Amino acid sequence: MSRIDFAARRQAMVAQQIEARGITDPRVLAAMREVPREDFVSPGWREEAYHDGPLPIEAEQTISQPYIVSLMCEALMLQGDERVLEIGTGSGYAAAVLARLAAEVHSVECIAELAELATKRLASHHCSNVAVHAGDGSLGWPNAAPYDAIVVTAAGPDVPAALRAQLKIGGRIVMPVGERNGLQELLRITRTGDHGERREMLLPVRSVPLTGAQGWPG
Ligand code: SAM
Repeated sequence: MSRIDFAARRQAMVAQQIEARGITDPRVLAAMREVPREDFVSPGWREEAYHDGPLPIEAEQTISQPYIVSLMCEALMLQGDERVLEIGTGSGYAAAVLARLAAEVHSVECIAELAELATKRLASHHCSNVAVHAGDGSLGWPNAAPYDAIVVTAAGPDVPAALRAQLKIGGRIVMPVGERNGLQELLRITRTGDHGERREMLLPVRSVPLTGAQGWPG
C-alpha cells in the first residue's frame, strides 16, 4: 500500500474512531492525523495499522488502540511547553504523538528490545524531543523530574508513589488502575498540593499489566 493510501486511512481513523467518540482537542486531533501508525507496528501488521483496537508488536506486547492514545493525551491537558513522562514506551507510537503536544518527553520501557526499537523509530520520525529509557517505569524517571504530566500505558494496582512524588503540584497523571486480569478504570489524578490529589474516572479499560517494584509482580 502506498503512503497516500495510508494517509487517507489515517484521516478516516481520526474522523470515525476519534472525533466520533468525542475527542475535541485540536492539537491532539492534529497529532493523530500526522503520526503514521503503520511505521510503529510490526512489519507484518502494516496493512492493519488503522484497525480500531490494539495490535501485536515485538516481545509479545501491544500498541494501544488509537482512541485510547488520543483520550489519554487529551486528558493530560497539554499546552505545548510541558515536560511529560510516559511509562510503557512499547512501539513508540504514543511517544511520537506526545512529541507533538509537549516540549520534552521522557518515555520508560522495561523491555530493552522494545526501548531500542522505539528509539530507532522515533529517530527516523525526527522526534528529537523524546528520550527513551530502558528500566522499571513503576519507579518513574527521577533524573528528569518533576513532570507537568505523566501517562502510564499499562495498568497497576494503584498509582505508584514514585510517580506521584515526581509530579509537579497542579500536574496530571493519567493511568489505568484496577485488577490485573479484568477491567480497570482509566483515571486522571491531579496533584493539588504536597499531599492532596483529585481523582476522576474517565473510562473502563482493559490494559496490559504494569510490572515492576511499584506495579504487579513481573
Ligand atoms: N504506549 C505504547 C505504544 O504506543 O505502543 C503501548 C504500550 S503497551 C500497551 C504497555 C507497555 O508497558 C509494554 O510495552 C510493557 O512492556 C510496558 N511496561 C509494563 N510494565 C512496565 C514498567 N514497569 N516499566 C516500563 N514499561 C512497562
